[in-house]
Amino acid sequence: MPALPFEFPEPTGSFDVEPPRRKRRLGVILSLSLGLPILLAGGAAGYLWYTGAFSEPEPLRLSFAEVDLIDAELAERADLADQLATARADYRSQLSDWDQALQWAETDRAGTAQPAAAVSNPGGGAMPGGDPTGRAFLDSIGATDVTVFFEAGPENCGYSGTGGEENYLYAGGCFSTAYPNTLFMAWDDGADDMVWSIFVHEAMHWFQSEHYAEASYLASFAGIDFASYTPQWEADASCRAVYVHGMTLDDYVDSSSPCTVDGWYEGWIADYLASLGAHRGAPVAAEFEPLETSRP
Ligand SMILES: [Zn+2]
Repeated sequence: MPALPFEFPEPTGSFDVEPPRRKRRLGVILSLSLGLPILLAGGAAGYLWYTGAFSEPEPLRLSFAEVDLIDAELAERADLADQLATARADYRSQLSDWDQALQWAETDRAGTAQPAAAVSNPGGGAMPGGDPTGRAFLDSIGATDVTVFFEAGPENCGYSGTGGEENYLYAGGCFSTAYPNTLFMAWDDGADDMVWSIFVHEAMHWFQSEHYAEASYLASFAGIDFASYTPQWEADASCRAVYVHGMTLDDYVDSSSPCTVDGWYEGWIADYLASLGAHRGAPVAAEFEPLETSRP
């Protein structure tokens, strides 16, 4: 845990003790070194007495300008104390939020729940192309514990509820933090050409959960509801697929999650949440120090 601002460690230095055999010499040095100043002080006192330094002092007189200066200085110091107290409270509050966000995100990611099969995928139990279970791709992004679950039931939020319209074929997937190691995938027979881009999009949701869940929790602490930035969260997933993994804008342009961020970059979603008022990451103690004040 980082050190709290404005707190300093207790001094821990030790002091050597003089060995006993040197006591006599030490005594001599002390009596000499103490004796001389005492003699000098006696001489100075005698001189001061002679010059009237011990007579009743004149009452202190301050000009109005000097009184104003002292009042201003005291007011400034009181203001500084307030600034310090506010900064300390802000820092502790943000640190507490950050610890909580981190803990919740880690708990989400550590989940091991596995969904139960409900409705089989009309498109079958393997994706088209050379990576039918997405294993090679998932391993390449570090999602070694994640597997594709071919499922068309209600837990596949991207596919469930679609279909039934003439001349339309659907493909849909879902990632849910309730099942951090599962990507749901389903598609209609004949929708094969949409499957891979949706799979990559869902894998990007896993990546978001791995790297940006904390940012999302910090946003919630700032009163920013997930629903208010769902389009940006979705765009971030598709844009990551485009900018990092070679998918094309066309792959998502007609989907429910188009990549709408021109010039997308790593960390874009965290910047976006910060632009809405969310804090970013762990608070940095030095940033809570009040600005230096100039003194006369
Ligand atoms: Zn999505």
